[in-house]
Amino acid sequence: PLVLGIETSCDETGVGIVRGTTLLADAVASSVNDHARYGGVVPEIASRAHLEAMVPTIQRALDTAGVKASDLDGIAVTAGPGLAGALLVGVSAAKAYAWALDKPLYGVNHLASHICVDQLEHGRLPSPTMALLVSGGHSSLLLSEDITSDVRPLGATIDDAAGEAFDKVARVLGLGFPGGPVVDRMAREGDPRSIAFPRGLSGAKDPAYDFSFSGLKTAVARWVEAKRRAGEDVPVADVAASFQEAVTDVLTRKAVKACKDSGVDHLMIGGGVAANSRLREMAQQRCDKAGIRLRVPRPGLCTDNGAMVAALGSEMVWRGRTPSSADLSADSSLPVTEVHVPAAGAA
Ligand code: ATP
Ligand code: MG
Ligand code: FE
Repeated sequence: PLVLGIETSCDETGVGIVRGTTLLADAVASSVNDHARYGGVVPEIASRAHLEAMVPTIQRALDTAGVKASDLDGIAVTAGPGLAGALLVGVSAAKAYAWALDKPLYGVNHLASHICVDQLEHGRLPSPTMALLVSGGHSSLLLSEDITSDVRPLGATIDDAAGEAFDKVARVLGLGFPGGPVVDRMAREGDPRSIAFPRGLSGAKDPAYDFSFSGLKTAVARWVEAKRRAGEDVPVADVAASFQEAVTDVLTRKAVKACKDSGVDHLMIGGGVAANSRLREMAQQRCDKAGIRLRVPRPGLCTDNGAMVAALGSEMVWRGRTPSSADLSADSSLPVTEVHVPAAGAA
């Protein structure tokens, strides 16, 4: 199936076009620079930027893919979770195009899309797949038999998401926003063993698949603050590397344990933090050792984009899932278990 996907849950206006599991176009317009001076995403600015970018980005994706809108088999859109006003722009656009072109509409879950995008790189996801979803708003271990209908949470963060911790540590170090990419880069110059930062929820009695990054974030802030108070230079690269090592250590250890405990031999890592070079490296080492096959999309497909939505939409069409109704609405807190929002009364 040929499907166009629209993503507007945060600050990226993404439009992707996919045929089956083949990526034809991935157009992204980001308002990230408009938010940088505020140190985080400003919802009103994001909504306005989506509104301005929506139609040109759809046109750019169609041009790149070399397909006509009339040839599409469906239109998919992120229905949630995300910023309410931002989601609304994408959902409204998707409804208008679906109605005007008389195409089926699929409102899908942003988090399942972060997982399904890997099909564009490595082919269909095996059943079952363990997914470690690590992004700006989520850090979860999810078990899926079929990404169009079944996502089961095994554990999640009890406080901050991993990406949020990267962003906050970057702010403490004065590295700007978003923090993930710059911490990743700085960490390459540092010693990951120089500072022993805490590994949250890693005790024998702690929940095996839950995460906690708030204590780590505070520990980093305190350590940096103490240095500054003592009038000493902050070894930014060493702090970045040691912090990143702590996050990566916990994420990969728990993901491998979840696979072993559940007898699942495929691990998928998705979401913006999956772009992290140390996470990818450590996950590969630990999966190799445990006999687990690792699947991680290329970094550009880990952060928010339209291709991931198109990938899940294409899978929906292929599996014959019921389209959403014409009165589809955005749900800013759509639960991870609701992979798609079908027509009222349908399953
Ligand atoms: P969610 O998917 O939970 O709704 P989101 O869509 O805002 O949240 P993503 O776009 O999936 O989040 O990911 C953005 C996050 O990924 C940011 O917190 C960013 O700092 C982080 N990130 C991006 N690149 C890297 C990297 N190389 N290393 C670590 N973190 C990174
Ligand atoms: Mg973003
Ligand atoms: Fe995301």
